[in-house]
Amino acid sequence: MTNHQNANLPQGHDNESLSWVEKREATLLAPYAMHSCDSQGRKHPSLEHSYRGPYQRDRDRILHSSAYRRLSGKMQVFTGEMGDYHRTRLTHTQEVATIARTIGRVLGLNEDLIEALALMHDIGHPPYGHAGEDALNECIADEGGFSHNQFALTIAEEIEIRYQEFPGLNLTYEVLAGQTKRIDKTNTVGPKPLLEVQLVDAADSTTYDAHDTDDAVKLKLVTLEEMSSVQLIRDALKRTREKYSNLNDDLTRKSVVHQLVERQVTSLISHCAGELQDRNFGSAAEAMSSDFLIDHTDELAGQKRELEAFLYRNVYRHPDLIEVRQSAQMRLKEMFATYCQRPELFPEKYQARSEKVGVRRMAVEYIAGMTDHFCEQTYKRICQ
Ligand code: MG
Repeated sequence: MTNHQNANLPQGHDNESLSWVEKREATLLAPYAMHSCDSQGRKHPSLEHSYRGPYQRDRDRILHSSAYRRLSGKMQVFTGEMGDYHRTRLTHTQEVATIARTIGRVLGLNEDLIEALALMHDIGHPPYGHAGEDALNECIADEGGFSHNQFALTIAEEIEIRYQEFPGLNLTYEVLAGQTKRIDKTNTVGPKPLLEVQLVDAADSTTYDAHDTDDAVKLKLVTLEEMSSVQLIRDALKRTREKYSNLNDDLTRKSVVHQLVERQVTSLISHCAGELQDRNFGSAAEAMSSDFLIDHTDELAGQKRELEAFLYRNVYRHPDLIEVRQSAQMRLKEMFATYCQRPELFPEKYQARSEKVGVRRMAVEYIAGMTDHFCEQTYKRICQ
C-alpha cells in the first residue's frame, strides 16, 4: 500500500464498495431507516461508486443540476426587488435540508436520502412561486394542468441532460417515489412514504413557518407585536424576554425565529423518537406499512395551523404581494400565449421536446424553468 492509500477506504468500483456503505449504514442507522443495500436501484443500472452510496450520488446529481442552481434566481415568497435579506427558493431548500438532516440524525434515519429528497423537493418551482404555478396551471388546465411537484420529476427524468445514453439524472427509485408522493398528499392509497420522505415534508413546513415570519417582520409587512396574537409567536417572545433583557428589535426577531425552529424541531424529535422506540420496527418496510407517521403532536400541529393562517391572511395576501402576484401572473399568461402562437421562439435545442410533448406543454415547461429575472428579460424581449 502506498502512503496516500487509506486502509479504511474501499478500493475499486465493484460490489465491495457498496458493502463498505452497507457496513457504515448498519452501524449508524436505525433498523427502520432506508438502507442503501435495500434500494430498488435505478432505471438505468450503473456500477456502484467506490466511496459514495446511491443516495449520496443522488444528492450530488441534484446539487449539480441546472434546475437546482436556478433556484437561486427564483423567489420563495418575496421578490428580488423587495431587498436581499429574505429567502430565495434556494436558501429555503438549504434550510429544509439542514433541519431535516438534524432531525434525521437523531432519529437514526438515512441522512443521504434525506438530503437528496430535500434538495429535490422544489426544483420544479416556476418563476414567481405559487403565483407562477397557479398561472401556468390555468394555462394548461385542459391538458392535465401544471404542478411543481410533478415538474420536478419531469426535470429529473427527462429534461436534465447529463449522460449520452439516456435523458435525466437516473436517480434511485426511492428518491423518485418520495417526490411522487408529494404530488398528491391527500392520496393515502398504498403504503405510506418512507420515514425519510415524511420527515422532509415535516421539515418543509417547520422551515417556512419560521423563515416567513422572519422575512415578513424584517420587511415590515407585519410586526412581532401583531403576530403575538398567535400562540407560537407569543410563547417565543415570552421565552426571548425571559432569557434576555433589553434586546433591540433586530435581535428580538432573530431570537423569536430561533425559538420557532428550536421548538418545532425539539417537539418533533421527542414526539417521534419515543414512539419509534416503543414500536421497535425491524425495517423501513415495516414502518411504512404501520400507522406510524412522522408528525407534530396534535397540540403543536394546531398551533402551526394558527400561525400559517395568520401568515396567509397578513403576509401571503398582503396588498404589496397581491400586486406582485397579479402582474406576474398576467406576464406569464401573455408569454404562454406568445410561445403557443410563435413556437419558433423556443431555443433550437427544445424543438425536439416540443414535438414530443406538444407546443402548449413545451411553453409551460420552458417558462417554468426560467428564473424570475430571465422571465422578466424574456417577457420584455418577446411580448413588448
Ligand atoms: Mg419547500
